[in-house]
Amino acid sequence: MTVAKWKQQTTKLLQAGQVGESTDLDARLLLEKVTGLDQIHQIMESERILVEEDLKSLEHLRNQRLAHKPMAYILGHKEFFGRSFLVDEHTLIPRPDTETLIEEVLRFAQNKPKEALLPIIDVCTGSGAIGITIALELGVDVELSDISKATLTIADRNAVALTGHPLSLHKADLLSTISQKYGMIVSNPPYLTTNWCDEVSAEVAWEPRSALNGLGSDGLFLIKRLLEQSAKHLKDEGVLFIECDYRQTNEVAALFKQHNFKHITITKDIAGHERVVWGILACTNN
Ligand code: GLN
Repeated sequence: MTVAKWKQQTTKLLQAGQVGESTDLDARLLLEKVTGLDQIHQIMESERILVEEDLKSLEHLRNQRLAHKPMAYILGHKEFFGRSFLVDEHTLIPRPDTETLIEEVLRFAQNKPKEALLPIIDVCTGSGAIGITIALELGVDVELSDISKATLTIADRNAVALTGHPLSLHKADLLSTISQKYGMIVSNPPYLTTNWCDEVSAEVAWEPRSALNGLGSDGLFLIKRLLEQSAKHLKDEGVLFIECDYRQTNEVAALFKQHNFKHITITKDIAGHERVVWGILACTNN
């Protein structure tokens, strides 16, 4: 079996299995992972015969892809805000939607003294994509927290690989075991309802349900707790950024209001869906 033939066969199989929308690219990336041949070399060496061992590995990966395993899990990394993050099946795969949260944070931080924002914590950090990106974009340290130890291991590896040094990690249920007060709290917590979790695509079904299910009939159980805790864990004028579903933004904004936040803002993601809610904690002595 040659490189060209395998690629052609794989593209066809993926198309027939209705796996993803970029079957050509997927076939090329699987080939590159196993053989080390990049796009140019796959063309230049299209008639190269694949060795038995590579063929076996390729078939294994192709079967995983045919079972709708996300490419990010097969390759072990995913691009977010222009950087490559390690991911595995313990972490949610960073999504382009979440880049909206980063953009809002950067807009907010513009023209503000950095000290006023510190310290910063990313709650439910997963792969660390949000916290590490903010750390790199603002040139500050960001603390990372997650309830899952396996997830924190990945966040730690990403922090070291991308910032060059470890960031503070907290294994915590939201902020409940943390005593510090923050200038900024950011979070993409689990927020899907159980029904929405049951309806996710075959690819999303590979992701940890605990990173998706926000619990409660409205999926907002964790966000409600996070709002309550954030009101206690933010300094006066501290800012909270939360990602949620577009069907939840009004309710989440109302929760911000209930907890004495001001300048409450809802922002749309690149697909035009309301995605991020943020607000500033009003001074308690006002
Ligand atoms: N945006 C994700 C999805 O729709 C959910 C992420 C989350 O629950 N934090 O699959």
